Amino acid sequence: MAKGPTPTELLTGLSYKPPEKGWMDVKPDFRPGTYCNPAAPKWMEWLSYPFPDKRSIPDNEWALPENWKEIVLEGMEDRLKRFRSLKVFFDICVRCGACADKCHFFLGTGDPKNMPVLRAELLRSVYRRYFKKIGRVLGEIAGARDLTEDVIKEWFFYLYQCTICRRCSLFCPYGIDMAEMTLLGRELLASIGLNIDWALASVGQCYDKGSHIGATPQAFKDMVDFLAEENERITGINTMPPINRKGAEILFVMPSGDYFADPGTFTMMGYMLLFKYLDLDYTLSTYAAEGGNFGWFVSHEMGKRLNAKIYHEAQRLGVKWILGGECGHMWRVCNQYMSTWWGPVDFLEKPVSPITGTHFENASVHKMVHISEFTADLIHHGKLNLDPQRNAHIKMTFHDSCNTARGMGILEEPRYIINNVLPEGNFIEMPPNTIREKAFCCGSSSGINANENMELRMQGGFPRANAVRFVHDKYGVNHLGCICALDRATLPTLLQYWVPEVEVTGITELVGNALIFPDELERTTDLRDRDLVGFGELAEEAGEEEE
Ligand code: SF4
Ligand code: SF4
Repeated sequence: MAKGPTPTELLTGLSYKPPEKGWMDVKPDFRPGTYCNPAAPKWMEWLSYPFPDKRSIPDNEWALPENWKEIVLEGMEDRLKRFRSLKVFFDICVRCGACADKCHFFLGTGDPKNMPVLRAELLRSVYRRYFKKIGRVLGEIAGARDLTEDVIKEWFFYLYQCTICRRCSLFCPYGIDMAEMTLLGRELLASIGLNIDWALASVGQCYDKGSHIGATPQAFKDMVDFLAEENERITGINTMPPINRKGAEILFVMPSGDYFADPGTFTMMGYMLLFKYLDLDYTLSTYAAEGGNFGWFVSHEMGKRLNAKIYHEAQRLGVKWILGGECGHMWRVCNQYMSTWWGPVDFLEKPVSPITGTHFENASVHKMVHISEFTADLIHHGKLNLDPQRNAHIKMTFHDSCNTARGMGILEEPRYIINNVLPEGNFIEMPPNTIREKAFCCGSSSGINANENMELRMQGGFPRANAVRFVHDKYGVNHLGCICALDRATLPTLLQYWVPEVEVTGITELVGNALIFPDELERTTDLRDRDLVGFGELAEEAGEEEE
């Protein structure tokens, strides 16, 4: 973090002491480092979002439209009709508090409004006031409050301090889904012109150029060429992938983070090596060059607009099914929303692995298979010749990404792969209450991985980093693995702050390291150009130890 508190200062300032005033009387503290910048008008205009304007949070220039209150209440009424779940979630909470200490933002900030139960109450109190008789009559006594500009400011602050990770829902006896409420609350904010810049700029870039990072099709092709050259330099294998090839069996879609920035690029190199090894009949696409979907962080409608490209491209290219890379929210969207948005995907076939013949029954509706499912199946059928010693310099723990783990149940596949590509004993789990379904979020997902809210991100990511710190200190773990591109973008910053000794890696990168091609060059480095054990500096170190 360029400016802002050091880790020690952040922890020293952390307190869980309840505030002296009631929650309705405490206003959010818009301190630099703790909130996201409002969206620039240019992106709002580009995406046809209402009420584009220059807004400045510190200057208190929110530029709300005149009839903002009417718009929000009508929007809430509309969503209460369309999303039965919202009404149920508003009505059934019994304030048991089981969720209270389960949110990483509460644990990292100590702010009671980051307790999921209270975050929901920010919205629920307005619902009670305008849509429930008891709230209309008894007001504050019934937990109801008027919708005011201060309430809107509070929503903006706290709904962008929720990464829609759903950890709290896991502990709620009623399964109340805070993520759904946050998303619908964000939609209401957007209806009066309040969006955050980082998310909307990414959506706008995706809409405009084809990927969140604004890479054009030509830039995508250049990056892929470069990574293929890197693979060839290190392994001697030509992994240049086909692009926009009609009639391929499989369309492979990856998040743009995997071809744009380290360490995602090493995962991309791993995909390309794996597919070359299998001689897979696949293609990449310059049109569907973004599997990620920041649109979903903004609204259901925008999520659908961005997602459209994947199916359209699969149809245009005439593939049989879709294989997807290591991404989290891409999978939440594809697995849980895509077939509802688009209906039956009749033009694709139920995915069958051409190498093992496995029928992926779990993908029979949306016709997309996750690379971890695909690779675990290959290893299970003995189709990969792997040398785990090539990853002997890596002692790793695994971060379950919220969307793949809690959202899709992909828990065993990455672990199975890891255990087959690392030497025995090199995989260490973090404490049980921080992994699998109970995994702590990276603290920067759902479109809030901006730079201006870095203090908040480091606070929200603290529980995750703390568990990494534990296995680093106790077992010498030096890598944190994950199967999500957003995690590969956010975790390096988080670990640099809290546990700088640990690096972040994708899992297919490790597969690429371990794969033995019959005609490859002798491998002396991994895909990051680091010496393998027994070569270069690591060989010298081993020699010195023996002496
Ligand atoms: S960030 Fe996660 S745990 Fe916290 S309120 Fe949101 S969904 Fe729940
Ligand atoms: S655990 Fe569920 S019922 Fe209990 S306070 Fe939290 S949201 Fe309400």
